[in-house]
Amino acid sequence: MEKHADTLRNHGIKPSLTRMLILSYLTEEGSHPTVEEIYKALIGTIPTLSKTTVYNTLHLFTQKKLARAVMLKDQETRYDLAAHPHAHFQCLECNTVYDTSAFPQLSAPEEFLKHTVEDVSILFTGLCQSCREKSSHIEQ
Ligand SMILES: [Zn+2]
Ligand SMILES: [Zn+2]
Repeated sequence: MEKHADTLRNHGIKPSLTRMLILSYLTEEGSHPTVEEIYKALIGTIPTLSKTTVYNTLHLFTQKKLARAVMLKDQETRYDLAAHPHAHFQCLECNTVYDTSAFPQLSAPEEFLKHTVEDVSILFTGLCQSCREKSSHIEQ
């Protein structure tokens, strides 16, 4: 927990138990949680938690560049830690999201240079390995 308190302080965020637990949840690999998922996971530990608090905390994390919103083929916004920008692969069959440590370098097209570009999201979609294997079993 002390590690999370330091991370928060390093981003100019005052540590609180709620903030540390939300950060801890985000740290779990490949979780990409929604506000709803974080709320459900932590309500047992923090009975006073509200979805508004989760939302506001994620908003604060995003503003302080500790977390980022992930653009996925999904109705709800999902969140990721900002420390290691990476591309995502989302399976269109089972919706599983995979991270890659590699980040394809993209520079903003010239027509966007009049704007202030702060972030770029890369999402690959298709059929994941296990869904592909399942569907090939059916074909055989
Ligand atoms: Zn799949
Ligand atoms: Zn990710």
